[in-house]
Amino acid sequence: MSKPTNISMQEVWQQDRDHYIHPWTDFSTFKETGSMVLADSDNVHVVDGDGNRYLDGIGGLWCVNIGYGREEMAQAIAEQVRQIPYYSCFGHHTTVPAAKLAAKLAELAPGNLNHVFYGCGGSVANDTAVRIIHFYFNQLGQKSKKKIISRIDGYHGSTYMAMSITGVKFDHIGFDIEEQLVHHISCPNPYRRPAGQSLEDFCNEKVQELEDKILELGPAKVAAFFAEPIMGAGGVIVPPEGYHQKILAVCRKYGVLYVSDEVVTAFGRLGHMFASEAEFGIVPDIITCAKGLTSGYLPLGATILSDEIYEVISKPQADGAIFTHGFTYSGHPVSCAAGLKNIEIMEREQLCDQVRDMGAYFEAQLKTLLDLPIVGDVRGRKFMMCIENVADKETKALIDPKARVGNRIADHCQARGLIVRPLAHMNVLSPPLTLTKEHIDFMIATLRESIEATVQELRSEGFL
Ligand code: PMP
Repeated sequence: MSKPTNISMQEVWQQDRDHYIHPWTDFSTFKETGSMVLADSDNVHVVDGDGNRYLDGIGGLWCVNIGYGREEMAQAIAEQVRQIPYYSCFGHHTTVPAAKLAAKLAELAPGNLNHVFYGCGGSVANDTAVRIIHFYFNQLGQKSKKKIISRIDGYHGSTYMAMSITGVKFDHIGFDIEEQLVHHISCPNPYRRPAGQSLEDFCNEKVQELEDKILELGPAKVAAFFAEPIMGAGGVIVPPEGYHQKILAVCRKYGVLYVSDEVVTAFGRLGHMFASEAEFGIVPDIITCAKGLTSGYLPLGATILSDEIYEVISKPQADGAIFTHGFTYSGHPVSCAAGLKNIEIMEREQLCDQVRDMGAYFEAQLKTLLDLPIVGDVRGRKFMMCIENVADKETKALIDPKARVGNRIADHCQARGLIVRPLAHMNVLSPPLTLTKEHIDFMIATLRESIEATVQELRSEGFL
């Protein structure tokens, strides 16, 4: 990463380095290199402070689904600001976009998930789910039902509770998490299953592990299971066929609520507005979503509840409790206006259909990289993909972390005009949904060159 050459951007670079605490940042390298300043954007491209243009292979952070620079979004946002930029929705006030978007989400969500609570992003949507679940079981008189089960390598956010539910062990180093309430079972990663084990046996073993965990903790104490349909930040893990359906059956057996974290998978990334039912055949009790809900144009998250849960939490409570949960910005009208316009654009342009076509091409083209010496696995679905790099394709042994292979590949890509996300030894791809065949061909050629250049470096430095 290099400092911008242009004077005004250099000043920005310096202000950022000296004063801005970046999220999720290794401060030691940050202090050396500072940031790449992003100054402009258009459709699938972003432009840095020096005017260099990059294809954004990660859609900001799995979120710019409709692409950058949509004038219609700017207009919808500006119009709402002029009309009424803010009003609290506490108690009995609302705004037009908050109500309309809730109805639209109820229409799009599967089954009888008809009731929407708003927050500012995915972490808060998951924290909200926990608070609602606890309130729900308290009102049912099942006060011991409080524990949450989630998976190693699942990612659910960065607030205290959401990070505790997260199972990416690296993310917990140096921090404390809630250990009384949250329990993890293992990750259903088919690539890392024991050699020789069938996918079906592997799947059944993971499902059995959930049942064993519920029985170990006691069904009367377990409130909910949290899972992403496809794990994102944990390395784009697609579970074996039938996994979610079998897991849901175990949850139902023990009265455990199933929360589907669709923060990444909703709004077109897998070719559907919601993936739980359309892609994996399950109707969960709660869906959490954010990111693609506004395509990142403004912050917004939602927790969508079934009729059954809503009925319990909304009836007059014996203990006099009311629903004392909410934020100043719950249902922010400008964010909701952005959400409505975003969904309108997705529907009008049939972006889900486009993802189903172009996503198949993207998957197939990425798989051609499997002939490269370090590409051990190419996995994911549609516009949610990952390349796992390994030292030995037979044994699946990892490359020494000191080699920072994911970062090296990302740097080579960036020097060639493509942004991909390094994730330890992996690289993740989650482009805007407006990607064309030409864009995909450019991405594949650039990845191939970048991985080849990385292999040469690793060999010359003795890492391979
Ligand atoms: N859940 C999942 C599956 C996510 O990928 C993320 C963010 N990457 C979150 C929750 C947290 O969302 P936010 O960063 O908007 O709080």
